[in-house]
Amino acid sequence: SVTDKTAIITGSTSGIGLGVARELARAGADVVLNSFTDSEEDHALASDMASEFGVKARYIQADMSDPDQCRALVETAGACDILVNNAGIQHVAPIEEFPTAKWDAIIAINLSSSFHTTAAALPMMRKAGWGRVVNIASAHGLTASPYKAAYVAAKHGIVGLTKVTALETAREPITANAICPGYVLTPLVEAQIPDTMEKYDMDRDEVIEKVMLERQPSKEFATVEQLGGTTLYLCSDAAAQVTGTTISVDGGWTAL
Ligand code: NAD
Repeated sequence: SVTDKTAIITGSTSGIGLGVARELARAGADVVLNSFTDSEEDHALASDMASEFGVKARYIQADMSDPDQCRALVETAGACDILVNNAGIQHVAPIEEFPTAKWDAIIAINLSSSFHTTAAALPMMRKAGWGRVVNIASAHGLTASPYKAAYVAAKHGIVGLTKVTALETAREPITANAICPGYVLTPLVEAQIPDTMEKYDMDRDEVIEKVMLERQPSKEFATVEQLGGTTLYLCSDAAAQVTGTTISVDGGWTAL
């Protein structure tokens, strides 16, 4: 059970990170929420979660594009039994027009941040004698789409990092796995709709049906609660021998 375990969820003021944090807190884990901002709303999210679920919850500001801040997040939390590497951004453009700064930011936030937080968290997990690393990858960690060079590269990279983390902890009560969601209707996906409408000359409904859910055979978005449930499974005793692998939550996308 995750009761009294401390979970750090990067990028957890919105979307999947917030949903996963809520499901961990509902199951009794103390949670550390994170983003790069430091607003009243950020801290209120944590205090609301604490009172809703009767757990400890706090918000720690740290920019996941900065290696030192990634490590400082874990150090400041002071404990890390469950590490959910979730922070991520997207940019859509053909390779030859893809801005270098966007490439660098996506590789830093979607991939390198997980290396730094994992490096800081593993000693704490070893000391506690238990640990779970859950990397939020993507169906784009296993397959590709045009115009998402940096994102697809970063997500394939995180699947590789997950395998290495699992091998380096294989003889210990620590596991590392990647969850590969298909499309989930979060602010990140909402933000892609206008660009995609323009690129394909389609309206909003057509983009959702014909572009986004085109490769999702269920024709339904996955939900943040379902991803929270998958994370809880990976934290359960039933998953003690599940390590170094990917779990797709994609409505059949990668079966195509
Ligand atoms: P979102 O935009 O709703 O949330 C992203 C979170 O990350 C926010 O809390 C944001 O503040 C935070 N964040 C962004 N930049 C940060 C930084 N530099 N430092 C710290 N925090 C930062 O996005 P989402 O859809 O919930 O995506 C979360 C993760 O799930 C990402 O890694 C994304 O690639 C992955 N994912 C999403 C989908 C989907 O369909 N939404 C599918 C597959 C994978």
